[in-house]
Amino acid sequence: MIEKTLVLIKPDAFKRRLTGEIIARFERVGLKLEKMKLIKPTKEIVERHYPDDEEWLELVGEKTIKTYQKYNLNLIDDLGTDDALEIGKKIRKWLIQYVVSGPVVAIVISGNHAVEVVRKLVGNTVPVFAELGTIRGDYSLDSPDFADKEKRSIQNLVHASGNKQEAKKEIALWFS
Ligand code: GDP
Ligand code: MG
Repeated sequence: MIEKTLVLIKPDAFKRRLTGEIIARFERVGLKLEKMKLIKPTKEIVERHYPDDEEWLELVGEKTIKTYQKYNLNLIDDLGTDDALEIGKKIRKWLIQYVVSGPVVAIVISGNHAVEVVRKLVGNTVPVFAELGTIRGDYSLDSPDFADKEKRSIQNLVHASGNKQEAKKEIALWFS
């Protein structure tokens, strides 16, 4: 089943000159580059990319809470709240600042089960949890507690659409 998905090479990866390495990983499994551009994104496009959607914000907050529980860390110290939605809102603000700091490379990738395969190659959202062999696991080591203390987004090199619906929306947004 041929699918399309959206990848963003985030500003940390671009600054570290990892763009070529990352693209090579997608190509070597047989995925195809359909469209690609280097841009300094506007705040507006990034805000639309990460919409102010309560369900998504809560999900992001809940993942953060789990990580803090795992390491027995104090949420209130770093985030000032233990409410998933409030945490999600803070993270969204930092995330927008991070992606807007650009440049980023936006890419449409196609191939068999491209959405799932790209997510697998990218690895876990949290670089310290990402397996070796994944992009995030091989090239980064950030974690929520480390990032939250510095009031910034986790730097994890790449964005990849989470599902087919997200992919459709994001491709239309970045390549309209
Ligand atoms: P992704 O689909 O794997 O990128 O992860 P999400 O959609 O859940 O989160 C979007 C982005 O928010 C991630 O890629 C990170 O850059 C950032 N992020 C997620 N969780 C946290 C967190 O707990 N703390 C901080 N500071 N940033 C986070
Ligand atoms: Mg996501």
